[in-house]
Amino acid sequence: MSLWLDGASRSYPTLDRDDSADVAVVGAGIAGVATAYFLASAGASVVVLEARGVAEAASGRNAGFLLAGVAENFVAAARRYGEPNALRIWRFTRRTQFLVRALVEEHRIDCALRWNGSDQIAGDDEEWREIEASARRLSSEGVAVSVDPAARSATYAEDGELHPVRWVRGLAAAAVKKGARIYESTRVRAVASGEAHTASGVVHASSVVLCTNAYTAHLAPSRVRPVRGQMLATAAAAPVFARPAYAHRGYRYWRQTSDGRVLVGGWRDTAAVEEVGEEERTTDVIQKQLEAFLRERHVDAAVTHRWAGTMGFSHDALPYIGRIDNGTFMCGGFTGHGMAFGPASAELVAALVRGARHPDADLFDPSR
Ligand SMILES: Cc1cc2nc3c(=O)[nH]c(=O)nc-3n(C[C@H](O)[C@H](O)[C@H](O)COP(=O)(O)OP(=O)(O)OC[C@H]3O[C@@H](n4cnc5c(N)ncnc54)[C@H](O)[C@@H]3O)c2cc1C
Repeated sequence: MSLWLDGASRSYPTLDRDDSADVAVVGAGIAGVATAYFLASAGASVVVLEARGVAEAASGRNAGFLLAGVAENFVAAARRYGEPNALRIWRFTRRTQFLVRALVEEHRIDCALRWNGSDQIAGDDEEWREIEASARRLSSEGVAVSVDPAARSATYAEDGELHPVRWVRGLAAAAVKKGARIYESTRVRAVASGEAHTASGVVHASSVVLCTNAYTAHLAPSRVRPVRGQMLATAAAAPVFARPAYAHRGYRYWRQTSDGRVLVGGWRDTAAVEEVGEEERTTDVIQKQLEAFLRERHVDAAVTHRWAGTMGFSHDALPYIGRIDNGTFMCGGFTGHGMAFGPASAELVAALVRGARHPDADLFDPSR
């Protein structure tokens, strides 16, 4: 059971009749909830349909890091996307950080938000050279970053961390205040132009937005692939980690919460063939390595929680955001970085649904 979902219960009704709205949003993870929030704030009537409960899938099972950029360091990102686009992607995730700060403050969302920065730690010599060069390059763009050659790491001072379930549920409550209607335990079986069909009713809407991330292919042709990520959490331990850490090109990560719990996740690269699909199960192979990390770092506290979540991977590690059919849009495929990409992505898709332009729409066009 995810640490964040321990003790959490559902609070919205199940759809039990036909309904209508300007926009039907399918999925109530960070992407769906934020999309509903932005659309409702702009005056649209919005219905959110969620098969489980708000933030019970990946959005309630992650590490809660709010990092700028993609999983890879900036040099690797520039190699992949070209430097101008890598900078645009970097700024896009900075937009999420701005939005989180502003929304948490405006709606007084109690989600243990902290801005202690994050450490990017090299796993080998080549990665260290890239991390150093990335820090130099981003520093020249005004990014607050310092390097520690002894630890072969760079500290990005502006990154954040939070309690993901309290954050997404707090934002859901804010969306409801703006007029959005949320239905939980309501699985969408099919979407057609202007309609979302569930077992107990049809929602008629001018636009449908699929915020179903790893599960999108069940509803529409999609290149998003389900990939598993695993974590564990301990009871309170003596202070050992000052800030979230991201190591080995993002495959290994850990943090310590303000109440002392140590969270460790990742190591998916050591079992890449097995760690795919929608099954949210932990495996001995991964969990043993997470435990070995605790021993290596002398974390002396019992493991209290172990869990797995399903991420949606895209073909190029960037999300697919935009129109996929006449009245159907999607916002998903975050490749393990939806807390960092989600709110800015939701703002983008909400703009497109309203017929507005967005300067970053081309970067994330689902047909790219
Ligand atoms: C172990 C782990 C650690 C991670 N750590 C981080 C991190 O530190 N920082 C970060 O940025 N990202 C992290 N991520 C990734 C992040 O959690 C995801 O990218 C993000 O939560 C995706 O949000 P989402 O709203 O797109 O998808 P989800 O949260 O998966 O939400 C999709 C929702 O759609 C619903 N749904 C699907 N199909 C239907 C249907 N037919 N009808 C109705 N509802 C449907 C699902 O029930 C689900 O609630 C991590 C992920 C994992 C698994």
